[in-house]
Amino acid sequence: MTSLIMKIMMFLLLISTLSGLETDTFERDIFLTPNTDELNLFNYLDIYIDVDKNLSIQEISDASNQNLFRPISELGNSFGFSDAVYWVRFSLDTQEIENKTFLLELAFPLIDKLTFYFPHNKNLFGHKEMGDAVAFCKRDIDYRNFVIELPLKTGKKNRYYMRLESTGPIQIPLFLWTQEAFISHIEKTNFLIGGYYGTMFLLMLMALVAFIKVRKELFIYYVFYISSFLIFQLSLNGFVYQYLLSKHPYANALFLPISVGAVVIGGLVFSSEFLQIWRREHKYLKLAFLTLMSMGVFTIVFTLFGDYRRALEVATITGFLLPPLVLVASFRSWHVGYSPARYFLLAWSLLLFGVFISGLLHLGYVSNNFFTVYSMQIGSTLEVILLGYAMFDQVTLLNKEKEDATLQANRYLNQINEGLEGLVLERTKELEEKNRQLKELSIHDSMTGLLNHNTSIEHLKMIIKSVKRYNDSLAVIMLDIDLFKNINDNYGHPAGDKVIISIAAILKQSLRDSDICGRYGGEEFILILDRIEREQAYALAERIRKKILLLKIDEIDNSVISASFGLSIYDKNRSDQDLILEADKALYRAKKEGRNQVVISS
Ligand code: GH3
Ligand code: MG
Ligand code: MG
Repeated sequence: MTSLIMKIMMFLLLISTLSGLETDTFERDIFLTPNTDELNLFNYLDIYIDVDKNLSIQEISDASNQNLFRPISELGNSFGFSDAVYWVRFSLDTQEIENKTFLLELAFPLIDKLTFYFPHNKNLFGHKEMGDAVAFCKRDIDYRNFVIELPLKTGKKNRYYMRLESTGPIQIPLFLWTQEAFISHIEKTNFLIGGYYGTMFLLMLMALVAFIKVRKELFIYYVFYISSFLIFQLSLNGFVYQYLLSKHPYANALFLPISVGAVVIGGLVFSSEFLQIWRREHKYLKLAFLTLMSMGVFTIVFTLFGDYRRALEVATITGFLLPPLVLVASFRSWHVGYSPARYFLLAWSLLLFGVFISGLLHLGYVSNNFFTVYSMQIGSTLEVILLGYAMFDQVTLLNKEKEDATLQANRYLNQINEGLEGLVLERTKELEEKNRQLKELSIHDSMTGLLNHNTSIEHLKMIIKSVKRYNDSLAVIMLDIDLFKNINDNYGHPAGDKVIISIAAILKQSLRDSDICGRYGGEEFILILDRIEREQAYALAERIRKKILLLKIDEIDNSVISASFGLSIYDKNRSDQDLILEADKALYRAKKEGRNQVVISS
């Protein structure tokens, strides 16, 4: 891509330099034939630069002064800034043509004052006056360049003179056209120029819409830059005078340097925002930007209030410095890895190339032809398109960065959320387990797995209700390990625990599924047995008592473990009966009467 553009640039450069050398047949007189329809007069012009500015047409056309003139092809047709008066001379031989109108075009609209002298009668000259310091209506043809209807005396040799004077640069690209050829030439040029302005205008409009939508300053700076560039080009090509200020040559003259100032300011503001000069760049570069910006402001102020000629020179210099400065800044930005700067670099290279060629033309180093005249348009179109691209690229980059950041933040949040969810789930599980354990604890005794004291009493109450309703029988046995304190004291607390656990196991084994067994206190248990008669209950207690006697615990060698039992029986005739109290009393008696026995409550 870059190398292709380089090749195109080299090609353009080649064309622009070669075109100055296109002469090999050198003919002083222009010989018009019926076939002549367009002619570049470059090879036929003679020029005299009158530095003292004091010769009149009579003096210049005098035979004694004809040797002052030199072929223009020796100098090129572009002369830069000069205070001198430029006299141009050419001769037309019209022997072969009849009644044909020829037009003479000076394809450079910025000349202040141009006087065209043509043979009138005998030795007298007629003249036509025009220029951008002269009212537009004085022109033969309403056109941005100077076009003169050539007064011809057919069948004769006609000698013409042209006097040029300007505060701005002077170029003398002269062309001879037949009317038909000129019309088709204008059509072609207007097509190209229309395309150019159309493109620029559209880009400006797009950026304006983008600004309205996105509200990003960069877009409005771009709009400012292009619009000032457009005005500058319109002024340079003579459109401002033709269409806007044709009655105000003085105001028109101010337009050019002011628009250059605006281009410089716009270009710098846009570039500094794009490349983030104020935020990121080296102080010398900032200083350079500020200096050039002040020069832009100075150009405008000086045009309005100072010396116009000097303002025009400052404008030219400032305009020339703009592209290289931005180019250096873009290169630096690109070099430190700011990727949008690469399009910027290319864009400004293209403009610089255009300005460079145009500058060479204005300074008189290359000749006036299509590519040199329109080099700035070509360069600036490519530039502005690329700048637009660069701008959207930058905005996309910033948006992408933003999106990425949002995405990352979201991802992070999700992670946190997921983590939290996991954590909550884990905590809930733990809590559920704790609750289960607590519930378990609140019902069961953790050491033996039997019902605890409170639950045992609750169960007993419920069972009594049911027993009352269905007229069932019910027995409660309270049992207590005998002299348990001694076991603890002699064999240690863990051994005591083992005894409690073992007796609990004996109780569970000995009961039916519907029976209830609880740990009432330390080494005291309660058995609730429904649908059971006194004898069966007593027998069960006896069985358990005997099983306990057989109990063997490793830590406890020879001593025998025993328990005492108190048994109470439900009596449906006593509504206020307390089964537990009665069983407890019976147990007390069993203890009192020597332990290791079952006593039935009386
Ligand atoms: P008695 O035959 O009159 O019931 O004599 P005792 O020693 O069994 O009676 P006492 O109520 O004076 O003693 C009960 C002892 O049981 C006191 C206490 O330290 C012990 N004990 C209570 N709960 C536990 C327990 O869970 N583990 C152990 N190892 N000892 C316990
Ligand atoms: Mg005891
Ligand atoms: Mg006890």
